[in-house]
Amino acid sequence: MSYQSVNPYDGRLLHTFAEQSDAQLEAAIAAAAACFEVWRATTFAERSAIVSRAAGLMRERREEFAQPVTLEMGKLIAEARGEVDLSADILDYYARNAERFLAPQHLAPATGEAAVENSPLGVLFGVQPWNFPYYQLARFAAPNLMAGNVVMVKHASCVPQCALMFAALWRDAGAPAGAYTNLLISHAQVDRVIDDPRIKGVALTGSVEAGRSVAARAGRNLKKSTMELGGSDAFIVLADADLDQAVRWAVWGRMNNTGQCCVAAKRFIVVEAVADRFLAGFRAALAALKPGDPMDPATTLGPLSTEAALLTLVDQVDRAVSAGATAVIGGHRIARPGSFMQPTILAGVTRDNPAFDEEFFGPVALFFRVADEDAAVALANDSPFGLGGSVFTADVARGKRVAARIETGMVFINHPTWTAPDLPFGGVKDSGYGRELSGMGIQEFVNKKLVRVAATSDAA
Ligand code: NAP
Repeated sequence: MSYQSVNPYDGRLLHTFAEQSDAQLEAAIAAAAACFEVWRATTFAERSAIVSRAAGLMRERREEFAQPVTLEMGKLIAEARGEVDLSADILDYYARNAERFLAPQHLAPATGEAAVENSPLGVLFGVQPWNFPYYQLARFAAPNLMAGNVVMVKHASCVPQCALMFAALWRDAGAPAGAYTNLLISHAQVDRVIDDPRIKGVALTGSVEAGRSVAARAGRNLKKSTMELGGSDAFIVLADADLDQAVRWAVWGRMNNTGQCCVAAKRFIVVEAVADRFLAGFRAALAALKPGDPMDPATTLGPLSTEAALLTLVDQVDRAVSAGATAVIGGHRIARPGSFMQPTILAGVTRDNPAFDEEFFGPVALFFRVADEDAAVALANDSPFGLGGSVFTADVARGKRVAARIETGMVFINHPTWTAPDLPFGGVKDSGYGRELSGMGIQEFVNKKLVRVAATSDAA
């Protein structure tokens, strides 16, 4: 296996990077472990200066960061620029707030004193996906570096240029060598890193299959892990919803990042009373998208990240249709060069169709009609996944009642699931465990250490 940068817009090979040898990997882990001994002793102010300098550099070099995203995985250039800004915001957020989040918590024992202090764990290892090539790295690196940990990252093999850009950012921001390390390594080497006693925690964002493998390995080594896995978010439209708004958000929720988003709206569950009107609007809006060069600001439908991702998605759609689903629109690759998929709506996906339980990672929406709110909630919860979900209704109190019944880590009312530095992100069920971002994300890899002072009156 090698790390290849291929433009999915035209299939051109841009760069190939060799995997690191075991000796190089060993040297990198040793450097990270040595760096931890220095980094853990720095103050929040010192760490904050470096992390906020990295945020500033990302913004200054927005275009330089955005271009490889579009070239390597086909994200529309405007979305790539937006991702650079969001990543910088995450860095700044932790640079500003980490000290407050990790302040000792003073307890009130019956006698004497007690406090819970937060100390870093050591070298952490992150395995990351290609779909948000900087945002995913920022949300792992920023809180953990601010907590005094150091991080090593194995990025997805199709985005090596982004991986290297983000690693160079830390050097340019003044972080010591070993604070942030990019690894170009194989899956077998991932296992070896997890087994290494110098690695103290493991975070993976990716598919359920990768999560099972990495979580099992971490478990065998009794190492703390977090798993941010796939999703099949429900997008519920109730009869009282503003339908124009619901259709607009449906298109954004399904199509942003060309549908390759863990929290994309994937299952559209619409009550019968408004189902025809919603479907007509959704279908027309998807049909109006314009495929083209993701570097061109006029393009509204980019390619999928790789040719392999496109072939997987086409195969999933074919299997769903053979098992009885109907393609209301789309259903095929677009007859043009590059890895383009037609925007697709599948209706009639019954419980016995394999598609029912699958995540569609691309511009393919599953459409369901239901009788009422109760049926919508039951269908939303009938999924192996539990990442996000959304409810559209004119009545916010009703939206909150529905949200309370949905079994996911996040529910949005009148908006598709989305992300911000100060909102926790994560799921339940096969979507994984643990949270990233917000004050919660920085608590995952710290030692919550009790320090107890006995009262002078405590008898020996
Ligand atoms: P993926 O194939 O699981 O890859 C994710 C990362 O895991 C890559 O770095 C990959 O390396 C590595 N990997 C895969 N199998 C592995 C194994 N057996 N051992 C060690 N490493 C392994 O997922 P993807 O296709 O890149 O990303 C899409 C998936 O991620 C979707 O399911 C999506 O929903 C999920 N996702 C979840 C979140 C969230 O926060 N919940 C966010 C974004 C994406 P290679 O590239 O070298 O194979």
